[in-house]
Amino acid sequence: MTPPPTYFGLDHYVGRTPLLRLKKLSALTGCEILGKAEFMNPGGSVKDRAAYGIITDAERRGLLQPGGTIVEGTAGNTGIGLTVIGQARGYRTVIVIPDTQAPEKIEQLRALGAEVIPVPPKPFSDPGNYNHIARELAAERGGFWANQFDNVANRQAHFGTTGPEIWEQTGGTVNAFVAAVGTGGTLAGTSQFLKTQNPKVAAVCADPYGAAMWSWFTNGNLDTDDGDSFAEGIGQGRVTKNLEDLVIDKAYRIDDQTALSVIYQLLREEGLLLGLSSGINVAGAVRYALEHGPGLTIATILCDTGLKYRQKLSNPAWLTENGLDPDLPVESVFA
Ligand code: PMP
Repeated sequence: MTPPPTYFGLDHYVGRTPLLRLKKLSALTGCEILGKAEFMNPGGSVKDRAAYGIITDAERRGLLQPGGTIVEGTAGNTGIGLTVIGQARGYRTVIVIPDTQAPEKIEQLRALGAEVIPVPPKPFSDPGNYNHIARELAAERGGFWANQFDNVANRQAHFGTTGPEIWEQTGGTVNAFVAAVGTGGTLAGTSQFLKTQNPKVAAVCADPYGAAMWSWFTNGNLDTDDGDSFAEGIGQGRVTKNLEDLVIDKAYRIDDQTALSVIYQLLREEGLLLGLSSGINVAGAVRYALEHGPGLTIATILCDTGLKYRQKLSNPAWLTENGLDPDLPVESVFA
């Protein structure tokens, strides 16, 4: 007898994303360069996993009651994930977001029904930083502060899902996992799980300019070096709780032109429209492959879709103004 069918709502379908072979970059490096299609999550990004994990953990700990409010400071994707999963589970969301983030994300958050509070960007050391505002707002309104940067339910979600999925999808052959750092949840949770299966799996950080993670993992200091990046959702300057005790085997600095050449190659030859953090991740995978390959299986994260950034990354005038060339071939940026 076949069992009766079981049906689930949207919040059940976070994760279990395809692991895509990036064929040109695989050929170029003699490695399997694999990208986890996280843009296929219900809220459209890798952050749905953290949002699901944080909400489920808060429910278990009795911190969220039916009809309750979730408050979070976010570059956008965590807010979208919390709102989508929140709606599916019966919670309201209040999202504090730096006003420098893509207007497409702010519009999407509002369309989803979140209360959105854009604030001027401030460093973490400033009380006006979006995370501190979110924490205070949660206290004032009696809401639950998701605290994605220092709530380790975030990295635990990746330890429990992203890591096992990559292990299974590669049949245990994965040699390296590469990710950029926003909160660090993706890089820490996934690589820590993979190392429990095979301690030889390399944990690799791909860092944009203007962030401190390359310096942290390479030299043990939080120097940010010169430069900056247009990538949203990544670029960390401190060791969050999600990054504590993390062992990283290699870190790379990736400039925006390299990431842009990667995302345009993936668009034109693989049909993938991605944001810049995905380009930084894939560029990190290619750098690792060129240094340590051929013959390796390297997995990374395709974090979100380029639809969220089309006013910038799909806008020739904006690209020219900012000295970025979408036609610079990917071969030349890795030469
Ligand atoms: N890419 C994008 C587009 C993101 O929004 C984020 C999260 N803010 C990341 C990458 C980094 O993920 P994590 O927070 O797990 O380090």
